Amino acid sequence: MIAQDIVRTVDFPKERRIGPSGRLRKIRCADNRLARARAISWIVRAKIARDPAPTGARSNVSIERLRLIRPDDWHLHVRDGAMLDSVVPDTARQFARAIIMPNLKPPVTTVAQALHYRQRILAALPEDAGFQPLMTLYLTGQTSPEEIRRAADCEHVYAVKYYPAGATTNSAAGVANIRQASAALKAMQDCRLPLLMHGEVTDPAVDVFDREAVFIERDLSWLLASFPELPMVLEHITTADSASFVRSGPDNLAATITAHHLLENRNAMFRGGLRPHHYCLPVLKREAHRQALIEAAISGHPRFFLGTDSAPHPKAAKESDCGCAGIYTARTALGLYAEVFEAAGALDRLEGFASLHGPDFYRLPRNTDTIELVRRPEPVPELIEFGGQPGVPFRAGGEVRWRLA
Ligand SMILES: [Zn+2]
Repeated sequence: MIAQDIVRTVDFPKERRIGPSGRLRKIRCADNRLARARAISWIVRAKIARDPAPTGARSNVSIERLRLIRPDDWHLHVRDGAMLDSVVPDTARQFARAIIMPNLKPPVTTVAQALHYRQRILAALPEDAGFQPLMTLYLTGQTSPEEIRRAADCEHVYAVKYYPAGATTNSAAGVANIRQASAALKAMQDCRLPLLMHGEVTDPAVDVFDREAVFIERDLSWLLASFPELPMVLEHITTADSASFVRSGPDNLAATITAHHLLENRNAMFRGGLRPHHYCLPVLKREAHRQALIEAAISGHPRFFLGTDSAPHPKAAKESDCGCAGIYTARTALGLYAEVFEAAGALDRLEGFASLHGPDFYRLPRNTDTIELVRRPEPVPELIEFGGQPGVPFRAGGEVRWRLA
């Protein structure tokens, strides 16, 4: 209920605009117009219900309506075939663009395959959707520098995804040892084509809850030392270790954070029994890690941004003696993130995390249109349809506190 339809701007303190990124500072010095555009768009416009006096969401003001520059999803699985047709409209309703994961069966390893996959995604979109899929290639031990250069030259391919072999769904074709992909990585660095990482070691001797932290030690440190100019995104971070490593890391290292890792800790998998619909990879971690992820997401740091890792699986594939990893959040993604930022008193930082930091890191233009969220509960069905099969969305049977206006 909007008592007074007041649009108030909440400006950020100066030090938050600067951010810890030397590279961003350099860009700003070199281009004053860009600097001004950044400062202007790091403003959150909120229509508030009552008391227009206090500043920012950290006050007790109850914000009922939020207008944001349209966000992008920097890590998304849409699958293929009938499943693709069912899930892609959910994302297109909320986001302008999404980085599309290439772990199909067989994986998307060439530019030609990525372009075909892009056509299938476009064909699955509702007619008036302006949504743009940003395609990626799947890194294998055979990925050649020539294919990397073709990818960099292609206007529809935006990154290359590294799955350690066996780390997650459809990752068998991944790279067993990242050092074997040095030639491709060197070409990516030369073309400035980002490397997206599923950051978990697959060594069976390493505890499943420690695999991300060990990845930093064994592989990410080597990657950063060997390819200091290669843009890298540590995808779906789940630990305090990753948050602090990225925060204090170099400008070419960023991280995405999912809604489910911000909302749930590992207890969710065992609440009253085994809960397969809360099983994902990297697996949910303990509460202290969830708190560290929230701190990172709401920090305003320009190298943390939104990536849902929404991953649909049919109900039967999750509820099995060897259930698939993956959580489907795409349907209510923005509402879920808004809940997290609201609970942390940081709704004024949601736009940076959801709409600005991602395109800035990828050096893409920010979106220009806006979307509105309202604080009105959105019920989530118990079951939805994934290509003719029942699927269980995140928070099935419950509700999400925010929805699209
Ligand atoms: Zn993923």
